[in-house]
Amino acid sequence: MSACLFCRIVAGEVPAQKVHEDDRVLAFRDISPKAPTHVLVIPRRHVGSLDELSAADGDLVGHLFLTVASVARQAGLDATGYRAVVNTGADGGQTVHHLHVHILGGRPLTWPPG
Ligand code: 5GP
Ligand code: ZN
Repeated sequence: MSACLFCRIVAGEVPAQKVHEDDRVLAFRDISPKAPTHVLVIPRRHVGSLDELSAADGDLVGHLFLTVASVARQAGLDATGYRAVVNTGADGGQTVHHLHVHILGGRPLTWPPG
């Protein structure tokens, strides 16, 4: 059994409210939503963070971000806008060490973040 929480969600060992899945990525609702819509999009394969990607991952990253846009559209966020965020490392506030893109929307978001 994997020690990585999001690998366990991919494996179906931890339940999640999935909104999209295909052979390379999975999108599911954040357990502690910070906005009316808060979805996480992750690669199925374990990648610890943005910092662990290599040049060979270009297609995966492209697909990951196209999925972000498609999930946001599906949630009706394209009309009003949304934020896609990748927290990376300690100062970035990353708490789960499996690459994920946050999709936050459904309310006006402030900038800069804390
Ligand atoms: P990070 O802080 O690493 O950028 O984001 C991790 C996110 O994962 C947080 O927003 C947190 O609420 C979410 N999260 C943590 N544990 C779980 C879980 O078991 N299930 C789901 N769906 N989300 C989780
Ligand atoms: Zn993982």
